[in-house]
Amino acid sequence: MVVGGVIDLHLHSNASDGTDPPEMIPELGAAAGCRAVALTDHDTLAGLSAAGSRAAEVGIELVRGCEVSCAFSGATTHVLVYFVDADEGPLHDELARLRQDRVARNRLLAERLAALGAPVTYEEAVEQAAGEESLGRPHFAALLVAKGMAESVPDAFDRWLASGRPAYVPKARVPPADLAAKAKESGAVCALAHPLSLELGPNELDRAVGELAEAGFAGLEAHYAAYGPEERRALVELASRHDLVATGGSDYHGTHKPGLAVGVGRGDLAVPDRALELLAARRP
Ligand code: AMP
Ligand code: ZN
Ligand code: FE
Ligand code: FE
Repeated sequence: MVVGGVIDLHLHSNASDGTDPPEMIPELGAAAGCRAVALTDHDTLAGLSAAGSRAAEVGIELVRGCEVSCAFSGATTHVLVYFVDADEGPLHDELARLRQDRVARNRLLAERLAALGAPVTYEEAVEQAAGEESLGRPHFAALLVAKGMAESVPDAFDRWLASGRPAYVPKARVPPADLAAKAKESGAVCALAHPLSLELGPNELDRAVGELAEAGFAGLEAHYAAYGPEERRALVELASRHDLVATGGSDYHGTHKPGLAVGVGRGDLAVPDRALELLAARRP
């Protein structure tokens, strides 16, 4: 393994709510100088095959991953799953259930928007996505912007789609310990994504991360593009206190999250590739 290289372990394609096709993710990773990238689409592994083939062609490693919404500590938290190399297993079954629930949630969300007078249909929303199971709130947000109902994607979330806003419809969430157990049975490991989204104070966050470590988590996303240097440093320490690998990534979503690039985030991201080595050592 090359010492001193960089990686990006948090990337979305249009297999979920990113805007680039999966094969473009390793291309962008290679262009940014990444030695490895992880494709981590929400609830799905559908982009991994195309991304894997292209990664081999451009000479970088593709880590097979996904991102799952978990119910934890009274909130929703996102969990990244890495090294999903099997073709079937309990994790795959769980993801299939989550995709079914996503489709049902999206239909309700579209009905809610229509009832609120927004000129948006479910069919139009699906047209924004690569398929029904790929559809997410960012597609609805982009559609609301295109229809002049919001100024930007974040504004569409603030007005309509975020938790507590009028068109919000919750979707199924998994207890993190269940996800960790299923990931383990499928040869994969879990890492807590963007930990500051939990909005906990330092002591509560420390306790929550301790619980996840007990549940078998392997990593914590410390080098997250949206975080400042101090936040990243504190999260690296937090990971170390609980013997978790300090992972990281950009959370690139193409044009659905402007200002974020693969590998470099907002320009200052540099996830050490040693993190991937350490994470791989935690595989069951
Ligand atoms: P979904 O899985 O369909 O509920 O959509 C969740 C996705 O929406 C997240 O992964 C983010 O990419 C995006 N998202 C959530 N909240 C916001 C927000 N306030 N502004 C912009 N994007 C958001
Ligand atoms: Zn997303
Ligand atoms: Fe996330
Ligand atoms: Fe993400």
